[in-house]
Amino acid sequence: MPAITNHLPTAELQALDAAHHMHPFTTGADLAAKGARVITRAKGVYLTDSEGHEILDGMAGLWCVNIGYGREELAEVAARQIRELPYYNTFFQTTHVPAIALAAKIAELAPGDLNHVFFASGGSDANDTNIRMVRTYWDVKGKPGKKIIIGRKNGYHGSTVGATSLGGMSAMHAQGGLPIPDIHHINEPNWWAAGGETSPEDFGLACAQELEQAILEFGEDRVAAFIAEPVQGAGGVIIPPETYWPEIQRICDKYEILLIADEVICGFGRTGNWFGSQTMGIRPDIMTIAKGLSSGYQPIGGSVVSDEVAAVLDSVEFNHGYTYSGHPVAAAVALENLRIMEEEGVVEHVQTVAGPYLAEKWHALADHPLVGETKLIGMMGSLALSPNKEPHATFAAEAGTIGYICRERCFANNLVMRHVGDRMIISPPLVIAPEEIDILIERARKALDETYARAKDEGLLQAAS
Ligand SMILES: *Cc1c(COP(=O)(O)O)cnc(C)c1O
Repeated sequence: MPAITNHLPTAELQALDAAHHMHPFTTGADLAAKGARVITRAKGVYLTDSEGHEILDGMAGLWCVNIGYGREELAEVAARQIRELPYYNTFFQTTHVPAIALAAKIAELAPGDLNHVFFASGGSDANDTNIRMVRTYWDVKGKPGKKIIIGRKNGYHGSTVGATSLGGMSAMHAQGGLPIPDIHHINEPNWWAAGGETSPEDFGLACAQELEQAILEFGEDRVAAFIAEPVQGAGGVIIPPETYWPEIQRICDKYEILLIADEVICGFGRTGNWFGSQTMGIRPDIMTIAKGLSSGYQPIGGSVVSDEVAAVLDSVEFNHGYTYSGHPVAAAVALENLRIMEEEGVVEHVQTVAGPYLAEKWHALADHPLVGETKLIGMMGSLALSPNKEPHATFAAEAGTIGYICRERCFANNLVMRHVGDRMIISPPLVIAPEEIDILIERARKALDETYARAKDEGLLQAAS
């Protein structure tokens, strides 16, 4: 077989891709007919595809390339670590310097007494760890009845059997007979979609109180934990009303329910603090981390655990672990990523430069005829496409029709912006400069204009009755 390289014609790469490569969250037959976009290199906030297009990556890969593409330092560290110790495990009472150093660094950055890290290769498997961890915690504490974990509809916690169960995506549950037993979901605090006549504040409270109702229904002696993203990402960048998180914290405290903050997206600067829990003012017992931990340069994630939870677990053998828990190359690269973030003040850049600048420009899109609400926190934002700009209004066309058109128009204008149903979302690299934000917004507006024109032509601007 000849070498498969960047130099092959795009059509040939696409044909090989269609023949052999199964894509996540994709209808294979549709993609095969259309041909996948082939990304060949990237630098800063720009991707290059096999046709030479320079595409502004408004999603930082999958919400992960926080420090941008092409950082030499990370390549150097990876090469050095592969030469020195490419692999060793952390089972059987062994350890190595990259895992030690990264765990200590995470403990230093994490709020409160979250001082202990159990490593995984990503967010999904870290959340699987969390399921076993919280249930084992309550077993050891003599409360084996506490097994139920409460998550949220439309929440996303990953794609393994356990993580899919924690998440609340019905299309995912439908494939594979999920969720697993003893997982329950309450509604998400999405005022724009479901707020009805209530104010956002009252709606936020009511959504949080669904947790209390669920605990009372099951009995607190059966509920182990509540898991949620500080800000829902894959669900459409749903920023909860301000009343939401304080009420959740109160309920978790009152009924002795462990709080798991899934920080896979929110962690490492995305919301303008190191962790979304700090932005939301909550005190989780466990945080899930991944993505921005290594800026996506290596697959690594983990569970960051409080002193109390760690002390309880440390009293037994926890029969759990992954071959690549604390992988030395991934850990070394993550550590270097965190060094760069600290030394270059990336979180401060989000707080004082990029975040405020993006907020101003993003919210200005609200004047567009197709835009209902605009939401942004730190460097993650969403806008609701709307037939008439009225709260809660949806299109008569099948959900996601207009969003998909808009995503395609973004791509055609060399911008990656994702759609979740008829919400458009962004999560650019945190290091994005104001001039690059101008380009992002200019391309987004052009894509919105083209989407509007096309929707109008095709009679798709009708609101659902
Ligand atoms: C992406 C994501 C995950 C899953 O992480 P993987 O590395 O894809 O396994 C879990 N939780 C949240 C909030 C995520 O966004």
